[in-house]
Amino acid sequence: MRLKTSSIHAHGYFDKTTGAFIPPIYQIAMFEQPGWTRTTDRGTDLKYSREENPTVRAVERTIACLEMAEDALCFSSGMSAIATLYLSTLKKGDTLVIPMEMYGTTIQLALDLQKYGIRTVLAWPETEEIVKEVNRKVKLVLVETMTNPTLRVIDVPELAKVCYDLGVTLVVDNTFVTPILYQPIKDKVDIVVHSMTKYIAGHNDVIAGAVVGEKKRILELWDWRRKLGCILAPFEAFLVLRGMKTLSIRVKTHCENAQAMAEFLVEHPKVKEVHYPGLTEDKYHSIARKMFKNGYGGVVSFRIKGGSEEVLKIFSKLKIIKTAPSLGGPESLITYPIISAAKVIPSDIREKLGITEDFLRLSVGLEDVEDLIEDIDRALSST
Ligand code: PLP
Repeated sequence: MRLKTSSIHAHGYFDKTTGAFIPPIYQIAMFEQPGWTRTTDRGTDLKYSREENPTVRAVERTIACLEMAEDALCFSSGMSAIATLYLSTLKKGDTLVIPMEMYGTTIQLALDLQKYGIRTVLAWPETEEIVKEVNRKVKLVLVETMTNPTLRVIDVPELAKVCYDLGVTLVVDNTFVTPILYQPIKDKVDIVVHSMTKYIAGHNDVIAGAVVGEKKRILELWDWRRKLGCILAPFEAFLVLRGMKTLSIRVKTHCENAQAMAEFLVEHPKVKEVHYPGLTEDKYHSIARKMFKNGYGGVVSFRIKGGSEEVLKIFSKLKIIKTAPSLGGPESLITYPIISAAKVIPSDIREKLGITEDFLRLSVGLEDVEDLIEDIDRALSST
């Protein structure tokens, strides 16, 4: 199945007794166990919704198919997916390598692991610097395909080759890029994680996460999810599944709108610098062109002329674009990273990364891009 078809049909649900072919919300805590136990298609027990739930399973089958993986697990959030991954993979004495620019809470949790005897190494967020930190003693490397919020593109195929040769487990957070643009598992990445809160669910109305990979690894993680109790809830699963059906057409429009927005911002007299890998002059354009198909993502970051005073003025003038954290939904959202996801990165590192008080991140939504451009133009021109 190709991507659009998979996102609609890969759940494979069919109820013979009713003829229903769209998974309903199995809002139920437990399942009949008449002296024996039913099992799921992956062989795990279907008896209690903290362990398995058919609506959740439908999402898992779909995301696994989209990411070209053997199996998947859904979680109550992207963070519970990442936390379960850390817990199931790492033990005392192991080393974890992550770039120093990625989603702030992912970094914070990685640093918290140090109190359990795990060594956390923060690498400069460029492929060659991450590669330098990877050696035989490293257990796990976790990177985002495109860093949050400055949009540096990591050369995942290159990093995957190094990790594969050394037997180091490579995890890629593919939240910003989605399998529509890039499928890391094709390049020998071991595990993919998603905050499905973003493009996968895609409607700014649900918090959800997923881990995708080989069957054997997924079964190990399954046991941790069962013990930690962080499975996705059935209603949320229903919303994610419904959202996923339009993933491909949504991502296409996000990319087109973001490209137009980036090209507009580059020319704007109140803008100092634009980060978007779809711009030919962007430092990461050639690597993004090599890795991605169908576009360059829906997020554009930029620096304005001015500082926090000007940022507040711009925010107060916006009429369509909402000032909020997060990304990947129909509503365009503008984020001030120094008070949001990047707030937890120490200020000296933040400065070095370029996440300064004039830096903004814009998740370009699905509105008419002309309206978005008019909105941002009016707001920028007020400074
Ligand atoms: N990974 C990335 C790249 C994110 O941007 C986020 C949240 O913004 C997360 C993980 C955490 O996901 P969640 O908010 O669904 O827990």
